[in-house]
Amino acid sequence: MSPAMNKKSQTETDTPKLNPGDQGDAGTPGVGENVCPECKGKGRIGVTSCPTCSGTGTIMEGIGGA
Ligand SMILES: [Zn+2]
Repeated sequence: MSPAMNKKSQTETDTPKLNPGDQGDAGTPGVGENVCPECKGKGRIGVTSCPTCSGTGTIMEGIGGA
């Protein structure tokens, strides 16, 4: 009987606190970030930028994945 439980934003239904359309942006907090297994977090393989992490040394894991 108390309508005070209403959220002020209807855009976010079951999304926690993610920015809209954010999934894979480098340096985005809240996204699953892991050390790149390809370059071991070095960001490069030999003298070439790691294609897996784009040279960042970390990879983003999609939320909701297993
Ligand atoms: Zn890498």
